[in-house]
Amino acid sequence: MVDASSDEILLRTRGLTKSFRGLIALRDHQIDLRKGEIVGVIGPNGSGKSTLFNCITGFSKPTAGEVFFRHDRISGLRPSAVVAKGLARTFQGSRLFVSLTVRENVRAAAHLRHQTNIFEAVLLTRRYFATQEAANGQAEELLSLVGLSHHADRLACELPYGDQRRLEIARALATAPDILLLDEPAAGLDSAETKQLADLIRRIRDSRGVTVVVVEHDMDLIMNLCERIQVLAAGEVICVGTPQEVRAHPRVREAYLGHE
Ligand code: ADP
Ligand code: MG
Repeated sequence: MVDASSDEILLRTRGLTKSFRGLIALRDHQIDLRKGEIVGVIGPNGSGKSTLFNCITGFSKPTAGEVFFRHDRISGLRPSAVVAKGLARTFQGSRLFVSLTVRENVRAAAHLRHQTNIFEAVLLTRRYFATQEAANGQAEELLSLVGLSHHADRLACELPYGDQRRLEIARALATAPDILLLDEPAAGLDSAETKQLADLIRRIRDSRGVTVVVVEHDMDLIMNLCERIQVLAAGEVICVGTPQEVRAHPRVREAYLGHE
């Protein structure tokens, strides 16, 4: 077991703001993420959750504000440079390499920590990587962690939906991140699969000391899994606290009335 909790702040956002032609999707966002925390960000559809991830990971250029990873300012970096710093993410919609096998998806991602380009990573996987024992070992370990060893040689596109979602997590972990950002990982999963996902996220934190941020519009997974929760509404942070504190907050009760 890695010592999961620590006071060390890994990631900070300050005044992070993103507008799209007058629509403010994210306004003055601020959060401090400590090493080994599991943090939830919830909010209704359109409240700015994916925009937050996009601004942190270089997929979207913030209109204002900054993101710091340890002592480095990372806002403005390209996505590949953000991965190289130690941040990995999944997307709300699946972005697997559908024509690669399950194992190749994980191996290809290991290159993303060092390569600038996704296509180079896929080529390297095909050309040289098959012989690299260490990388192979790492891929097997990650597939075992997410429960996909038995599907390693199948094409990613052939997997059932729930398995594809866990492969996305294995692929993100292949870049050896300090922080893992999961965008609606439980979307489309049934309650047994959601419970399995929560167990997996805890195992990832406990065994690797990874800080995990989970974005969801549904409360259940977040309430059961996260130690600290931030609630967004229309791009603004309306409250931060433990699951109990958040559940009792009047604006959260109002936003989620009928969901519980
Ligand atoms: P969430 O992930 O919480 O559902 P998003 O971050 O995707 O919300 O979106 C927040 C707001 O920003 C929404 O109103 C959405 O329509 C808008 N938005 C997001 N991305 C874009 C974009 N590329 N262009 C214009 N508007 C966008
Ligand atoms: Mg979203």
